Amino acid sequence: MTPSPAAPADLVITGCTALRHTGTGSGSGSDERIEFAEDTSIVVRGGVIEAIGVDIELPDAVERIHARGQVAMPGLVNCHTHAPMVALRGIAEDLPTEEWFNDVVWPIESNLTAVDVELGAKLACAEMIRGGVTCFADHYFSMDTVAAVVEECGIRAHLGEAYFSSQGPQGREKSLEFALRHRGRAGGRITTALAPHAPYTVDDTALAATADLAREHGLPVHIHAAENRDQTEASLARHGRTPIEILARTGILTGDLDVLLAHGTGIVERDLPVLARTNGRTAVATAPRGYLRFAWPTTTPVRALRGIGVPVGLATDGAASNSSLDVWESMALTSLIQKSTEGDPRWLTSRQALHHATLQSARAVGFGGRIGSLAPGLRADIVLVDLTGPHTQPVHDLAATLVHSARSSDVRTTIVDGRILMRDRELLTLDVPEIVRELGERLPALVDRSHGRRIQEYGT
Ligand SMILES: [Zn+2]
Repeated sequence: MTPSPAAPADLVITGCTALRHTGTGSGSGSDERIEFAEDTSIVVRGGVIEAIGVDIELPDAVERIHARGQVAMPGLVNCHTHAPMVALRGIAEDLPTEEWFNDVVWPIESNLTAVDVELGAKLACAEMIRGGVTCFADHYFSMDTVAAVVEECGIRAHLGEAYFSSQGPQGREKSLEFALRHRGRAGGRITTALAPHAPYTVDDTALAATADLAREHGLPVHIHAAENRDQTEASLARHGRTPIEILARTGILTGDLDVLLAHGTGIVERDLPVLARTNGRTAVATAPRGYLRFAWPTTTPVRALRGIGVPVGLATDGAASNSSLDVWESMALTSLIQKSTEGDPRWLTSRQALHHATLQSARAVGFGGRIGSLAPGLRADIVLVDLTGPHTQPVHDLAATLVHSARSSDVRTTIVDGRILMRDRELLTLDVPEIVRELGERLPALVDRSHGRRIQEYGT
């Protein structure tokens, strides 16, 4: 039923400075235009931004937020994470990739239960909502549980049940069943993908079968690929092809599927034409903190990817390798590391970083055209950021203040689909002390590695 125009709106925000996209949003360079409109009002009805502007007529509303001194921007998107891994935050520090996987993470993950996943997902959602993240792409196990947490706590998510080919066809079938069962759930807040782990843990036959299933059911694919340069070199030595070429050859990167690639720091020159041929249907998620900590020699080649029209979204990866789910930090680090890597202080400006954080991230997780911008008709995923703190004053360039001075703790209010999930820093749908208490009781069993098992072997 369509409410009559005379009915009160669900939410009206007044007096904010709004981040607005003024370019076409799809291209690179000059299209990445972002402006800030002062004294803006936003009307939300039925989960959607009904109106936004400076001198718009304001209806009665069930809830009102007066937001003078605050910036309204699209909620941030964490384009690749393993949310429940917050339970392992800080447990595997100062280790190279191989030992991190084989000696700590994969042995511990052989203990995982659905309850561990549930509590980890709740803690992760609390952290993300507090940090202004309104949508995340998750790639993990026991994903029915994560979907239930998403449904309950009100955040938006793009979810995939991870699998290795060591699980046999059952792993893939489970991923498909999950994706079909949960697609469009939680009032459309949940979208789903097939989630093979990576080309080094899922063999070519299983990748080809994945591509067939994705095509048959109209599902996207979310996969780790060319995570680091070692993986690309090992793949070339073993198969004569890079991981990206393997994904093309097995039918995944052929331009007729939507594919989200995690990391891509091992993407090399010869991969670019392969990615270019996918006509913008491939996106890459970059999570730079983990690359620094593992001392990987390269980072996601953002400039080259933008040059061929590949959107690059911001991510944190899991907290076991990133220590936090703070997308603000990913935004600042992406900007800084890109400048350093390219040797160009003019590359990856604050406005470009905000474009990655908003429109490109929304596209990367398959929500393009629905979120990522504050515009009439889009879902009302909005965060209000308080810039009155001493570390954000004075403001000469609002984009620079947001990217390089603001912190996740400056987010005062987080709104998803028109529903307020955090108001004035108070979480309204999750009880953190209770989650931490319950998780604490389970940790000894979860982190026990005395059994000597692991769910998988890392050898690139
Ligand atoms: Zn990952």
